[in-house]
Amino acid sequence: MNEFELIRTFFARQPVSRADVAAGIGDDAALLRPPAGQLLAVTSDLLVSGVHFLPDVDPHSLGHKALAVNLSDLAAMGAEPAWFMLNLVLPEADTGWLERFCRGMFDLAQAHNVQLVGGDTSRGPLAIGIEAHGFVPEGAALRRSGARTGDRIYVTGTLGDAALALQHRLGKHRLSEHDFAVLSGRLDRPLPRVREGMALRGLAHSAIDISDGLLADLGHILEMSQVGARIFLDKIPLSPVCRAHVATCGWEAPLAMGDDYELCFTVPPQNVGALEKLRLGSGLRCIGEIEAEPGLRIVDKSGEPYRTALTGHDHFAKSR
Ligand code: ADP
Ligand code: MG
Repeated sequence: MNEFELIRTFFARQPVSRADVAAGIGDDAALLRPPAGQLLAVTSDLLVSGVHFLPDVDPHSLGHKALAVNLSDLAAMGAEPAWFMLNLVLPEADTGWLERFCRGMFDLAQAHNVQLVGGDTSRGPLAIGIEAHGFVPEGAALRRSGARTGDRIYVTGTLGDAALALQHRLGKHRLSEHDFAVLSGRLDRPLPRVREGMALRGLAHSAIDISDGLLADLGHILEMSQVGARIFLDKIPLSPVCRAHVATCGWEAPLAMGDDYELCFTVPPQNVGALEKLRLGSGLRCIGEIEAEPGLRIVDKSGEPYRTALTGHDHFAKSR
């Protein structure tokens, strides 16, 4: 199968076809119609074999996750996803692998009505770069820099589950077969909180998606907004498996290991009522409050300061 057959077979055949795509795959560039009065939100994420995923990962999960992490970035801006580009480096044209990769990717694309509009394909060590595009009305985007003193800090879903599944897969922490089955979906097929992000327009002052761990990602909001915060450990939403893990092994998984793809956002007190009426499928939990004093203060369940050297994931950190 040559490059052009491969593109025709796997990427030109897809389930989503949008009216705002004047030309998709097949020409030298895609031609797209962004809606009048909206900003185009653009993001990209690179997944490299051996760095972001294990080389023998299930291709269905990989296809899902490569798109999901990009949709999660759009969600964190409050943007509505529309289009994406796929840059693929493949060691070989393995049709069975590509079939499953596309199934994972296109099932998620269809769920969010996002269309693949182009990309590039090359031979080399396995890597996947996706760039996703979405729309957000002018003035409605959720920025990292918008948090204000007095805002309540919220997170969606539960934290730490993906990290525990990864630790199990790496042989660093053992989960029971049942618990691993429950948590591995959180690692392999994260659900981007797109609906939640869009619903937060006009309610949240700031938002970020949790890819590197709560402390690191909330830290970005604090830094960009030039504020501090107080959070309460006993308010952090945990699954039953993660709660049991924390009781014996401490807080690293939910606070500092990342890969959750939940949203962390801040809401002024006057919008809390409207927020809590939203009934978002993911669930919402208030974990603390923005304060004027810089820095992050963590309070444990007995009301004492919780001190930690934990930080988030950093690809270029020296001691990995
Ligand atoms: P060019 O050489 O002009 O860059 P290509 O031969 O690389 O064009 O690509 C031909 C068409 O196929 C283009 O529309 C491109 O966007 C699309 N394409 C190539 N690779 C992919 C891919 N992995 N996913 C989606 N579209 C792709
Ligand atoms: Mg090309």
